[in-house]
Parts: sequence; C-alpha cells; structure tokens
Amino acid sequence: MEKSLENQGRVDKNTDTNDSSRSNKNKSQGSSQNKKSGGRRYYGRRRRFYNRNRNRNDTPRLNTSFKKLSIVIPLFNEEESVHPLANEIKKVLNPIGMQYEVVFVDDGSTDLSLKNVKDICNTDRKFKYVSFRKNYGKSAALQVGFQYVTGDVVVTMDADLQDDPKEIPNLLKKLNEGYDLCSGWKKKRRDPIIKKLSSKFFNFVTKIFSGIKIHDFNCGLKAYRKEVVENLYVHGELHRYMPVLAKWQGFTITEIPVQHHPRRYGKTKFGISRFFKGFIDLITVIFSTRYTKRPLHFFGFFGAMAMILGIIVLGFLSVLWIQGHPLSNRPMLFLGMLLIIVGVQFFAVGLLGEMLVHNSPGNPDYIIKDKS
Ligand code: UDP
Ligand code: MG
Repeated sequence: MEKSLENQGRVDKNTDTNDSSRSNKNKSQGSSQNKKSGGRRYYGRRRRFYNRNRNRNDTPRLNTSFKKLSIVIPLFNEEESVHPLANEIKKVLNPIGMQYEVVFVDDGSTDLSLKNVKDICNTDRKFKYVSFRKNYGKSAALQVGFQYVTGDVVVTMDADLQDDPKEIPNLLKKLNEGYDLCSGWKKKRRDPIIKKLSSKFFNFVTKIFSGIKIHDFNCGLKAYRKEVVENLYVHGELHRYMPVLAKWQGFTITEIPVQHHPRRYGKTKFGISRFFKGFIDLITVIFSTRYTKRPLHFFGFFGAMAMILGIIVLGFLSVLWIQGHPLSNRPMLFLGMLLIIVGVQFFAVGLLGEMLVHNSPGNPDYIIKDKS
C-alpha cells in the first residue's frame, strides 16, 4: 500500500513538472519498451543526451517527504505585484520537481488585482483564486485559503513582493526535519525605522508572554504541515500570532532567517493602529489559548488580587479606628471598599464563564496526534 502511494507520488512529480520536453521524452521512453532493438538503441542515445543536459542544469531537486505544496497568498490592492510574484514563484518551484498549487485570496481588492489574478489562473492551472466580496482582513483571507488548499504542506506569503519565493525550499527543508511550523525571520527587515522598532518591542513582549523562543512572530512567510492549518482558527487580526496559536495546540515551532525586500509598489495596509490592535489581540490570544476552558483561573486571579489589597487597606483602617481615629475623612476607606467590590465582580464573571464552558455543547478541541 505504502509502496503504491510512493509510486503515485513519483508519477505526480513527473507529470507536474513544466519541462515539457522532459515529459515527452519520458513518454517516448515508455513507448520504446515495445519496440525492437533498433528502436531501443535510438532512444537510448536520446536518453544519454538528456541525462548529460540534466547534469549541466544545476537546479537542485528538493528532497523532502512532502507530496504536494500549497501556497496561500492573501492580497488586498496589490495589482502591480501579482504578475511579477507569479513569475518568481514559477521560476523557483518549477525546477525543483515538486507538485504545487498557488491559491490567491483576493481580500475584496478595489483595483485591478482580481483581474490580474484571473489572468494568471487562466494561463496556468496550478494557480487558483478565491475572491471576497469585501475586505475582511488578512486573517480571514488566510483562514479561507487554509480551507481551500489540498497540499500536505502549506506556505503562506505576502503578495507585495516583500517576501522572497526563493526561501520556500529552505522553509520546506527545515520543516522536513520534523517541525510542524517553520516561521520566517526578517533578520534584515526592509521597512521604515518606526515599524522596525515597534515590531522589535512587540516581538519581545509576545516572546515573554508565550514562551516561544523565536524572533519574528509576524513574518508573512511561513510553512505549516497540513494538520496545523486544519486546526488553526484565525480571525480578527490574529494572523500576527500564528506561532502562539499553533504552540498552544501542541505543535512544534521553529524559524529560519529569510530575505526581506522593501515594498516595490503600493503602500502598507496596516497603519499605526496595528500596535494598539496588536496588544489587544495579544490579550485575546492569551485568554483564548490558555483560559477558554478555565475562565475562573483568569478572572479569579485578578479578583483575588483586588480582594487581598482591599482587605489589607480595610484592615489597616480598622486598626486606626480601634485606636480612636475617625474614618469619615479618609479617602482610603473608599479605595478599600472599591477593591473588595471589584474583586467580587471579577469572581462573579469568572464563575459565569465556568458555567458557560460547562454547559456549552460542541467538540472538546483535543487534537489527536496518532492512533492505532
Ligand atoms: N492584506 C490583505 N488584507 C488586508 C490587509 C493586507 O489581504 O486587509 C495582504 C496584503 O495585500 C499583503 C499582506 O496582507 O499581501 C501583508 O500586508 P502589508 O504588506 O500591507 O503588511 P506589512 O508588510 O506592512 O506588515
Ligand atoms: Mg508588506
């Protein structure tokens, strides 16, 4: 069974390569098997000629266990970039002899992006597209792309030519070492200084909160095993936290440095608001990855802190009152009362959360790695 699957993989690779002369030659070789010895000699010479040519062509064929690669590209108003991007992807992937597909997810572009994407898809069947009626955001585009792919390994990249398709084989090689997710690290980031600095800070905070030892959480270029994207649910602007979401599902994460280019056309789609939204999203990620199944641990922590502080304040005031000091002119009394009330409220919210978790039906979100 395994062997026949392997053979299937080999056949797919051969039929998928764009080297038409090569596949013609393969066909000729196949038909030559039925011919008499004279014919065999003729094709034998051709094969030697072909092999000599192949040795001269030094493009390395990628040796990994993956059968098919799917590339997901979210895009929003990137009309100038899509054609050069498709050409670069073909230039990198056609020679390595791996079956692949490219899924463009048009996130409600209002320029000629969709038309250009359609043109590409009409000329090459490896390219496909999904188009949104309106702009839903990069996370939504990735999520829909993930549902659409058919490969056993998935690479995401931005459409603005800042990510380099030449890095795809390197990501796949690293993933093939056994990791579930390999993120790109824009070691030399080609962006304005303000973006570089804030991103450094942002990555630092995320690293501390998540415990994941990588440098760059928000690189558009990433490679995933299929089961990772099947189990991720990205919405809002959570695409910045893919490694965090994946890690909390039990997947293994690594990173490699990748080349990054300055934006050639158009402008960035994420303004200064990204930093505020980014931190709010971090709270969402931490809450939804760690505490959705045990909300009382989250709210209870803050509730307990507030109540302990309140008890200390009120205890201190009680001692003063016993000693004969009046409390009517002490603002601290209000602080103590406030802390106790807030603490009780935190606990109440946590308990309500627990009730919701215990009464909600649905699957328990446990991912099974293997079974007999
Ligand atoms: N993008 C998208 N929908 C959006 C915003 C962005 O699909 O609402 C795409 C965009 O076209 C690009 C990628 O997400 O392919 C990254 O966006 P951008 O280059 O603006 O981000 P930056 O590099 O500035 O972080
Ligand atoms: Mg960009």
